Amino acid sequence: MYQSLPFQITVIDTGLMGSEVAACYLLESDGESAIIETGNYATAERVLNLLEQRQLSKEKVRFIIPTHVHLDHSGGASSLIDALPNAQLVIHPRGARHMIDPTKLIAGATAVYGEAKFHELYGNISPIDEDRLIIAEDCDTLTFGNRRLLFRNTPGHASHHFCIWDELSSGWFSGDTFGISYRQFLNENGSYLFPTTTPVQFDPEALITSIKLMMNYQPKKMYLTHFGAIDIKPSTATKLCIQIDDYVAMIDSQEESNITHKSIHSLLSDYTYQKMLEHGLAMSVEKFEKLMAMDLNLNTQGLIVWHERRKAGR
Ligand SMILES: [Zn+2]
Repeated sequence: MYQSLPFQITVIDTGLMGSEVAACYLLESDGESAIIETGNYATAERVLNLLEQRQLSKEKVRFIIPTHVHLDHSGGASSLIDALPNAQLVIHPRGARHMIDPTKLIAGATAVYGEAKFHELYGNISPIDEDRLIIAEDCDTLTFGNRRLLFRNTPGHASHHFCIWDELSSGWFSGDTFGISYRQFLNENGSYLFPTTTPVQFDPEALITSIKLMMNYQPKKMYLTHFGAIDIKPSTATKLCIQIDDYVAMIDSQEESNITHKSIHSLLSDYTYQKMLEHGLAMSVEKFEKLMAMDLNLNTQGLIVWHERRKAGR
């Protein structure tokens, strides 16, 4: 459930949607700490247990930092705020109102999952008091212990997304901006990453710009939410951007009547399986489809929503 990394970083498997699907992170410095990403209502207990194991005071957790308000990142924010009495929730300027009043987030997710499944995944999400919020604008920094975190606005996956640069480890807490790579996607060639185009704000140009911005910092590590820390070379980013371009080309090459969930899903699935083979990952189609079911579904939806928005000139 917990994986210790160098530089006083610990990966916590939130258990949300399965094992090793959604991570959150504990960062320590000089007895103080911060939590990046929040899982769901069950995550608070995992965080408290870890703090106890490390003999860290819950009163000295300074920040709780969801990278964006999609619920697999922000769903546990209110329970963590309740559990950690002195922590402030740090959020993107465009995400703040959804933390103060989560009605829209809840309605959106209930529409996707249905009432019962939503409740199973996220339980009760409470509003967060404004005085517990810190809005992090682009280039803001926050310090706890001797550790400085830099916030950069990284739209493209969502317009309410920032990434967090950790100077100490030369790494980014990348949320969903730098794609997804499950543990099964790691081999001798490194980690195979694919983009996440979740509805409703996917913007390919902005996403590529954000990835380039992140690479300007010459990162050694990406701390992905889905899932865990990966090593970064310049070619990692190039390959990720090529896939974003290819997604766009895939939609552009289709007749309008062919832009349906079924046909785009099938194109995306074949394309991704091919990319995985190119990376040297030999996985049965059955295993691939099981592992990727949720992401292929969301990526298909997000690409179609983007296409519709573009057509409407929005
Ligand atoms: Zn997201």
